[in-house]
Amino acid sequence: MGVGSLGSIQEGDHMAGSQGAHAIVRAYETDEGDGARVTRLFPGREMRDLDPFVLLDEFNLSPMGGFPNHAHRGFEAVTYMLEGEFHHRDTMGNDSVVSAGGVQRFTAGRGLVHSEMPGRGPRNRGLQLWVNLPRHLKRVEPSYQQVEPESVPVRRVGTSIVRTIVGEGSPVRLRTPVRYLDISLEPVGMYLGSIPQDWRGLVYVLEGHVSLHGTEAWHGDSIELVPGETFTIMALNGPARLALLSGRPLGEPIIHNGTFVD
Ligand code: FE
Repeated sequence: MGVGSLGSIQEGDHMAGSQGAHAIVRAYETDEGDGARVTRLFPGREMRDLDPFVLLDEFNLSPMGGFPNHAHRGFEAVTYMLEGEFHHRDTMGNDSVVSAGGVQRFTAGRGLVHSEMPGRGPRNRGLQLWVNLPRHLKRVEPSYQQVEPESVPVRRVGTSIVRTIVGEGSPVRLRTPVRYLDISLEPVGMYLGSIPQDWRGLVYVLEGHVSLHGTEAWHGDSIELVPGETFTIMALNGPARLALLSGRPLGEPIIHNGTFVD
């Protein structure tokens, strides 16, 4: 599983970080599914992938749009709801609603068909992350996991509230070592963190305006992290919320074939 092997992350470490260049990439809007638009960070022109991650979408669906039956294979996905609801049905017989704060993971493996439709409310907002499967696991049996909001670990770290979507304490299970946090910052609050030397990671801004060592970012922006570096993210001009995503690269080719990753 790998998600338990996170001992090298030094949260709260007060060493000064280096002032390396932090690449900023802005998500772009694109049509998906049936009458839906998503804000996609990657794959795109500016960022093809962030091995082991192959796609990151922010969606905000009205009841008029959604993702009717479609097929996937070759990767795992984590959907994390920020607002509203998301109704999932698949060929494994799952039929369930993921509500705000809840997480769904599916492992497409050798293949599944599912639909992902919005709840009845006006806003159904969340993040969907695709994680590549290592070559030897591309054909695994498909599987599904749902984690209710109250089972997502929450803790206060200084001036931030941290929810662990994937990583230490979270029940969400992936085949690749990943750490995925939802961090809410109070006005002028800050968060100190780092990612291991051999991992890759980024911060994606969900709300507000933040600064990471002088690089400023707003909703829809991401800042790539420097592996091994201790970084500080500060909320500017009010509260802020961000997703902090990191994982150990697989170092294998990522072949996109529509909704498949081969
Ligand atoms: Fe899908």
